[in-house]
Amino acid sequence: MPVRILILGAGFGGLELASRLSGELADEVEVTLVDRNDSFVFGFSKLDVLFGRRTMDEVRLPYASIAKQSVEFRQETIVSIDPVRKRVVTDAGTHEADILVVALGADLAPGATPGLIEAGHEFYSPEGAEALREVIEGFEGGAIVIGVLGGLFKCPPAPYEAAFMLHDHLTRRGVRGSTSITLVTPMPKPIPISDEVSNAILAMLDERGIQTLHAAWTDRLDPETKAVHLRDGRELPFDLFLAVPVHVAPPVVVESGLAEDDGWIAVDKVSLATKWPDVYAVGDVTSAPVPRAGVVAEGEASTVADVLIHKLGGGAAPAPFAGELTCYIEMGDDTIGRVNVNFLSGPAPVAVYDPPSHEGAAAKRNFGATRRSRWFGIGDA
Ligand SMILES: Cc1cc2nc3c(=O)[nH]c(=O)nc-3n(C[C@H](O)[C@H](O)[C@H](O)COP(=O)(O)OP(=O)(O)OC[C@H]3O[C@@H](n4cnc5c(N)ncnc54)[C@H](O)[C@@H]3O)c2cc1C
Repeated sequence: MPVRILILGAGFGGLELASRLSGELADEVEVTLVDRNDSFVFGFSKLDVLFGRRTMDEVRLPYASIAKQSVEFRQETIVSIDPVRKRVVTDAGTHEADILVVALGADLAPGATPGLIEAGHEFYSPEGAEALREVIEGFEGGAIVIGVLGGLFKCPPAPYEAAFMLHDHLTRRGVRGSTSITLVTPMPKPIPISDEVSNAILAMLDERGIQTLHAAWTDRLDPETKAVHLRDGRELPFDLFLAVPVHVAPPVVVESGLAEDDGWIAVDKVSLATKWPDVYAVGDVTSAPVPRAGVVAEGEASTVADVLIHKLGGGAAPAPFAGELTCYIEMGDDTIGRVNVNFLSGPAPVAVYDPPSHEGAAAKRNFGATRRSRWFGIGDA
């Protein structure tokens, strides 16, 4: 009898795990991959949509194109998870599993910041980025504030990328001179683990006249006066507020009792095992001591694949999750900087920085192309 592996969530983590299991353990397993959506969108594609480089239809990768041995995709919404019995209820029925992997990512909670829904716009969801695109296209000058509204959010460089791309976009449209751009964030600096990268980003923001307020927590937006109220009492006027909303674990994770007091699923940082036997969790939904990023979710999923291949197929003991990743940062003028980070191998994270270049941009395009090919069989990478 094949081992039934149920993967909840077909994002970076779920897609990578399903691909590895199909490629290396297809005869021993029966993988069911569940997601409420019919397609996947890379996080970074949302910025392309926001600034009119691509349409949402162009960046959607349909799950229907997944054709992998021993993997079945099911478009269903998960409504409860029982980690003891490894039983999952969806809007279409019940799944029983031998091994359960939770890869449900982080949800956005715009309602957690008073005034945001009435007076601001978020650009972190596909729908938000698509809706905001027209607003930015029609913007004729004034004060733009990019606000990071929680301490834990996907892709720490993304708000800076948005600022650089916004600067380029408004410059091209001839309205940059009549627009101020301010980035407000609770982070103490752009990339807290690397002064070198942080200073490079700060210098480039400065050159472009983009203001920053670091270590600044936003309490609320006032829709009447159009002002951001910071926790330290300061107020900031805005004509357009672009938000990175507060992130939370998907409600089904919390309601099913999988989240700890900090709101996320606790995992062993080496094997990604949870406290329930044969239940693993990867990616943004965990409290692993690494940033929320697709490359991290993918690396963790690959570690779980190693663990399961060893468990079910024998062979060499798997290496622990290395915490190594390459992060690409759009820095304007169609150039991309790269940071190679190792989070877990030493007493403190180590980062090596490559300044922005067209070669970095090509490497990022290649990153997307290899995943499109590996996960969806699309393209010729
Ligand atoms: C603007 C932006 C730019 C980014 N840029 C980068 C970048 O350049 N590099 C990088 O590495 N990362 C980037 N990221 C971050 C990256 O997208 C996330 O960290 C990554 O997607 C996390 O992977 P995951 O597998 O944990 O979760 P996700 O990819 O979010 O997948 C979770 C899946 O679970 C599904 N789901 C949730 N709840 C349910 C439910 N109840 N029922 C059924 N399905 C459900 C969701 O539909 C989703 O498909 C960016 C993010 C944003 C927003």
